[in-house]
Amino acid sequence: MAIQRTFSILKPDATRRNLTGAINARFEENGLRIVAQKRIHMTRAQAEKFYEVHSERPFFGELVDFMISEPVVVQVLEGENAVAKNREIMGATNPADADEGTIRKDFALSIGENSVHGSDSDENAAIEIKHFFKDEEIVG
Ligand code: ADP
Ligand code: MG
Repeated sequence: MAIQRTFSILKPDATRRNLTGAINARFEENGLRIVAQKRIHMTRAQAEKFYEVHSERPFFGELVDFMISEPVVVQVLEGENAVAKNREIMGATNPADADEGTIRKDFALSIGENSVHGSDSDENAAIEIKHFFKDEEIVG
């Protein structure tokens, strides 16, 4: 399996509850390395662009309002099979469906306020990383 990079966000419900360290520990314990990270307050334009693929979904407005409600931490995670590995560590979108020991099972508040974002493919990871990081800000 190849070393990959994936894009991750610690969402506003996580920063608000001071859970950034606890969640980062999950990544590191599971073999993912945080090779770039910054805390930002997303603008509405950034959030709308980032979630553009969901713009027709009924929850789009709520999702954008949530993502700009408090700071977030945007990250690049690196490791073996990082995209799929991170999705596994995160757990299902709805915490009610998430496996035991996953981030969303242990920390998420609801299907919307679900603590983390993770890219769903190698292709989207590359696109999403470029939304928030310059090449020189990623140090593996
Ligand atoms: P994932 O984050 O697991 O890849 P999606 O890409 O389907 O999930 O959805 C993006 C985000 O939109 C979710 O993480 C969640 O914050 C929000 N979301 C998804 N479905 C719903 C829903 N039914 N109601 C409210 N928010 C939702
Ligand atoms: Mg998704």
